[in-house]
Amino acid sequence: DFVVDAAEAAQPDLNCFCVIDRERALAMAMASDERIAKGEARPLEGVPVAMKDLFAVEGVETTASSNILKGFTPTYESTISANLWNAGAVFFAKTAMDEFAMGSSNETACTGPVVNPWRAKGSSENLVPGGSSGGSTAAVAAGISYGGTGTDTGGSIRQPAAFTGLVGVKPTYGRCSRWGAVAFASSLDHPGPVAKTVRDSAILTREMAGHDPKDSTSHPGEVPDFEAAVGKSVKGLRIGVPKEYRMDGMPDEIEKLWAEGVEWLKAAGAEIVDVSLPLTKYALPAYYIIAPAEASSNLARFDGMRYGARVEGEDLIDTYEKTRGAGFGHEVQRRVLIGTYVLSAGYYDAYYLKALKVRRRILEDFNAAFGKVDALLTPTTPSAAFPIGSKADASPIEMYLNDIFTVTANIAGVPAISVPAGLDGQGLPLGLQVITRALDEETMFSVAAALE
Ligand code: GLN
Repeated sequence: DFVVDAAEAAQPDLNCFCVIDRERALAMAMASDERIAKGEARPLEGVPVAMKDLFAVEGVETTASSNILKGFTPTYESTISANLWNAGAVFFAKTAMDEFAMGSSNETACTGPVVNPWRAKGSSENLVPGGSSGGSTAAVAAGISYGGTGTDTGGSIRQPAAFTGLVGVKPTYGRCSRWGAVAFASSLDHPGPVAKTVRDSAILTREMAGHDPKDSTSHPGEVPDFEAAVGKSVKGLRIGVPKEYRMDGMPDEIEKLWAEGVEWLKAAGAEIVDVSLPLTKYALPAYYIIAPAEASSNLARFDGMRYGARVEGEDLIDTYEKTRGAGFGHEVQRRVLIGTYVLSAGYYDAYYLKALKVRRRILEDFNAAFGKVDALLTPTTPSAAFPIGSKADASPIEMYLNDIFTVTANIAGVPAISVPAGLDGQGLPLGLQVITRALDEETMFSVAAALE
């Protein structure tokens, strides 16, 4: 009951849950108690994990925080949630997200904005928890849940983790199955966990990961014991500091924190190397072509016929239009329009194909850097959490700039983690990011633990 009571008590302030399921939580917790009593505890026995609302949980409404999926109750379980329950974790709630995971602030959920449990010093102003997995990060940061799940398509686990003082992990592409998760941009979507410590995040990643024949892009290899990498010495590791991440106009506090991170790793015996990722500045533009292109195709299935809500029209086409017009929020409509535009005949070569070429070059940049170093250290975000409403109404580009340091790892599919590394002048948390070679989450966890 405890976690459910805490969730219900916090919900009016934080608005981070869209479903709270006391009955199921109790049943699962009691089953866990029995196992513990019999000495048969599994790695996450009895541990509450909040589920981002795009993971299908059998028999529980799953909407990806969109009106268009209102009333959709899956008859199947996503692989990520199934893996967690098989490891003993307890389901108690679905967490709100930016609609269809499109956003960096958790202001576009159909259930309204999520509130960050952190406040600036002496201020009563509510801040965003970051997005799109901000419902999960708010629930963990507020101490309600031990862990949370998210998906990271362009930063949506790492950025909200940084904004709420948590650890957020985006594993290698294919490490965690996408089966049963509502798709945004399939080639960029990475399920992963949020947690309070690097060790907790390593345990959750280990339990969520694994080959899944139901996801054709799932990695077939064994999952290493990521927990064992936590606390391992970083002595002799080569850590790259990419000069292109030193952006004009970056706040001094972020610059300072980054320099401190470098010093901590040096003190732990790592060797610091300057590296260059020349294509960095093209990552965001490429992302905002590829992600909407894939989204426009993925979201075509929401037509009012197969799932969720329907608005009846005069005929079939009219029904599609009315359903999609009413069911999708503005940001989602914007993405679908951009996506269909860049994929349409005559523009495909100029935009989509060009973006794919840039993607390949960005991957080559990373490969070249990882020829010289074992890990890269960068800030996670260009700012700390901002007030609710302060960016949503400005230009979308300003919102998109939140992802400037995070999208590159999605484009390349390499693992990346955000670790809470300090507070800004307002007393708000800031994160540092560690990026490593594909499938080398172990080095990522070791370096991250050295920064904790
Ligand atoms: N903020 C980015 C976007 O809006 C990334 C979102 C995500 O990672 N799901 O597309």
